[in-house]
Amino acid sequence: MISVAEAIEIVRQQTGRLSTERVALEQVLGRVLAEDVVADTDLPPFDRSQMDGYAVRAEDVKTAPARLRIVGESAAGRGWHNQLEEGQAVRIMTGAPVPTGADSVQQVELTHELKDGSVVELLETVELGKSIVKRGAEIKAGEVVLNSATIINAAMMAVLAAFGYATVEVFRRPRIAVLATGTELVSVDQIPGQDQIRDSNNYSLTAYAALAGATVQRMPLTGDETALLKKQIADAAEHSDLIVTSGGVSMGVYDVTKAALKELDAEIFFERVALRPGKPTVFARLPNGTLVFGLPGNPVSVAVTFNLFARTALLAMQGAADPTLKRETAGLARSVKGTTDRDSYLPAQLTTNDDAELIAFPLKWGGSSDFVAFALTTALLVVPANVKSIEAGSLVTVLRLP
Ligand code: AMP
Ligand code: MG
Repeated sequence: MISVAEAIEIVRQQTGRLSTERVALEQVLGRVLAEDVVADTDLPPFDRSQMDGYAVRAEDVKTAPARLRIVGESAAGRGWHNQLEEGQAVRIMTGAPVPTGADSVQQVELTHELKDGSVVELLETVELGKSIVKRGAEIKAGEVVLNSATIINAAMMAVLAAFGYATVEVFRRPRIAVLATGTELVSVDQIPGQDQIRDSNNYSLTAYAALAGATVQRMPLTGDETALLKKQIADAAEHSDLIVTSGGVSMGVYDVTKAALKELDAEIFFERVALRPGKPTVFARLPNGTLVFGLPGNPVSVAVTFNLFARTALLAMQGAADPTLKRETAGLARSVKGTTDRDSYLPAQLTTNDDAELIAFPLKWGGSSDFVAFALTTALLVVPANVKSIEAGSLVTVLRLP
């Protein structure tokens, strides 16, 4: 049995990066950048007004009120491209270029324009440089604005667009196949007969895989026959970077996943992890290079082991700078118990208290089959192996779930 940390390290070592591709900007949300994004212009590209008001020479408004002659108008996209001279003002809009000769903008609220539009009265003095963002003050052309290996979020879409990235070099999406074992399983559109249950793992796995940037294929239910399981794993391997199975990895008579993998000449990297829930997790590679995670059958074990291990592999394939779930520290709201020899990753909800501290509430759950309780879970709370219990008020490590 290996530790969770060792298992994650093995996953990272055994996972190669996928190739990269150029993709249209509108399709890159959630993808991992495979190039540095470089500014092709200064930002702002010209001295820009931050206010609606009047572009002036501060020197002309040393005493107030001051009267200046209005000589033009500068709007966003339609600037006034002459030289502003002593005693003159230009009516200016937010985002518009400041005319040469002007060095300050006074906001419209502190002015009074004559009815005929010829003269503006400035009611207060103006400090030099007021309400102007100088060309290049935010970004200089040639600067790297987003680094390769970053996962593209919604705000970054604006950055890509602003610097002309109509197409973006990103890592290819991993292709994953999910495959549920178990004679008891029927599909979601069936009414379970005696001793049967509906397959739910394939749906949570598909969703988690999609959140990790993968395209997912759901294989038909396989039952518990080694021959059929072998055939489906082999079929899936032909067009998948990763296969994730659920069930059939415990020590029971019908636990056939490892047998199928061995008969397919898979190299098995680990088959037991010191983890609760999720001890019998298998990680292997088929001769053609496709990686396989054999996850336990219980739905909560599936969610925990997928997010610790399979998600890490999917993000590592896409070249993500940090493919693992982020570890944070939270205060514990209620005492929890640990397990001998195994790290526990327990379902919890995160909130903040009045002092802006992160607080983890362990959820009451009925064990690794309790997927209904798990649906309220926002994070996993770590109780290290051999820690008998952690008291309320202690600091604990938590991992936010996607
Ligand atoms: P196993 O690891 O195959 O022994 O399965 C452990 C438990 O998880 C059993 O109660 C199974 O019925 C349940 N289980 C296995 N596969 C699924 C699935 N795809 N959807 C929901 N429950 C499952
Ligand atoms: Mg089973």
